[in-house]
Order: sequence, then structure tokens, then C-alpha cells
Amino acid sequence: MPEIGPSSLPAASAVSRAKLTESLLQPETLPPADPAAADPHSLAGLFPSGAAPRLVIRPTDIAPPAEDARPDPADLDAAIEPLVELLSGKRIAVLTGAGISTDSGVPDYRSPGSAPRRPMTHQQFISAESFRRHYWARNHLGWEHLAAAQPNAGHRALAAMEDAGHLTGLITQNIDMLHARAGSRHLVPIHGRYDRVRCLSCDAMTPRAEFDGVLESLNPGWRERVKELADLEVAPDADVVLKSTADFRIADCARCGGILQPDVVFFGQNSSRERVERASAIVDQADVLLVAGSSLAVMGGLRYVRRAAKAAKRVGIINRGSTRGDELATVRVHAGTSETLSLLAARL
Ligand SMILES: [Zn+2]
Repeated sequence: MPEIGPSSLPAASAVSRAKLTESLLQPETLPPADPAAADPHSLAGLFPSGAAPRLVIRPTDIAPPAEDARPDPADLDAAIEPLVELLSGKRIAVLTGAGISTDSGVPDYRSPGSAPRRPMTHQQFISAESFRRHYWARNHLGWEHLAAAQPNAGHRALAAMEDAGHLTGLITQNIDMLHARAGSRHLVPIHGRYDRVRCLSCDAMTPRAEFDGVLESLNPGWRERVKELADLEVAPDADVVLKSTADFRIADCARCGGILQPDVVFFGQNSSRERVERASAIVDQADVLLVAGSSLAVMGGLRYVRRAAKAAKRVGIINRGSTRGDELATVRVHAGTSETLSLLAARL
């Protein structure tokens, strides 16, 4: 069985890793020219005077308040009893979110108390080279830290559950590919994957590791220079890095000259039809749906909970804090995914 415990990553580097991996999780934080005009959901009224925000945040990017977090149950074994009953002997579809990767040092921006963010939209990304420069500069800094993250006990428990024949498949909202590295095989990353670069014109795919050589040759020494700055301080809106990206050089598709984007789904962009269909099939073939480590804040995940509920399939949720799917769930376990999934895998 997978061991139970926190990530093996050294705690001392967790903060800088969190800062540097930020760019890979689709969130870019750029101030629009005129926040109030750019977005009707301006938070101007919520801040004390003198702290008027430059950021404009969509409602789904506001994390629950810190008070929403609650301690894990003292007796987790007893707390998961209803979940064991719900899932025993059933074909299980699993949906995971950022919460399952936090023990691997990958930050979850929607966990209770997280600072609000304004992610770069796909429209911004394709509209101007300055946005792409900024995005790729931060990606150049952050991607290798995501590549260095290791699967944790929660990822391994789900791989073990698949090996034991309990799962119809695994749908994940994460782009970190940690499920695949833990051994999950029938896996649909509905928001894409960080480890590939796609041409928006001809669909050519390049491994991110290979593309790193291209960016490095265009920007020799850049990563080392900015890393020193980034380690000093990166505000939630990444001003330090933002100032440093104006001279960053980006590459277009070597084959057709098209725009290159990580193979991840940006805000304002839809998951591919193929991925949506494969994910839907995982739910349709299952008796029950298990959600682990997601607040279901974005429709990309919530739609599968609704799909299951509509088909009268029961839903179990493991998550610290409330979720948008709570009223559709039969069982809720407010606890961390590493420990809970490990116990669960042992009892099914
Ligand atoms: Zn191309």
C-alpha cells in the first residue's frame, strides 16, 4: 500500500516552488488597462479606501474564506465509513482537482483563504505578443518546478484502486500529470497537460522539455537572472516578474509560424470535444462518482457531478472546505486527500 504522509518535498522550498509553479496553473495575473471597464465583477467596493485593487476577479477565481477550512476528523477511519459503504462493490468514476496535488507542493489557488487572482484569458493570450511574452516568461521560470513535483499518497492510492479494478477511469482538472506518473492509465486531463506545447494553427505538439531548449537559446541566462528576483518577492499579481518580462523572447511554430501555447485549457477556452467525450464516458460507465480535492469552482469539473446526479448516480466528495457540488453529494468527507484516499484504497 502507498504510505500515508505528507509530501517528501522539503518544506523550506515549498514557498518559492509555489511562486514559481504559479504560471503553469493557467493563472496569469495582469492588470487590465481599465479594470472597471474590463470586467463587471470589479472588487473595488470590497477594499478599504487606499487599497483600491488593480486586479479584477471573476467570481470563480475567488477562493472560499479562510474560515471555511476545518480540521480533519480526529478519527479519519470512522469518518470515511459512509464513503466505504457508498463505494464498496461499485464501479467508480473519479474526478480530481488541485487539492490532490497540494501535498506534492503544487499550490491550490482555490483552497480556503487563498488570495484572489485574475488568470490570463485565452483571448488575451492570442490578442497580443506582450501577453504571450509575459505568459511564456513565467512559464519558462515555473515549468521545471512542476516537472520536479512528485506524486503523493493520494495519487498512488487512486492508481492502486484502478489496478484493483474499482475504477471506470480518472478525470482530472489538474495539468500536472502526477496521476500518470503515479501509474493511472485510463486518465483524462480535461484542462490539458503542462508537459506539451501545441501550435494553435497546425496542432503540432512539442514536448515542453524540448521546447525549453528553444526558449533557453533565445534567452540565455534569463532564467538565472530573474530567479534571483523572484526569490526575493513575488506579489500575488507577480509585479516583480512582470517588470522583468519585457525583454523576453518567444518562439512561434517552427513548422508553420503559428502561435505556440502550452497544451492547457486557458480561461475563456473550452476543453477539446475528444476529452469531454472520454470524460463523460467514464461517468456514464460508473455506478458512483468520487470527487477528490476539488471545490468544483469551475464548470469544467462541476458538469460531471451534475451528469452523475442527473443519471441518479450517487456522489461522494473528499475535500477540505465546501464545494459547489455539496448539495448533489450523498457523502462528504472534509479531509485531506492523501490520507483519506490511502485509507479508502485499503478498505475497498
Ligand atoms: Zn504550426
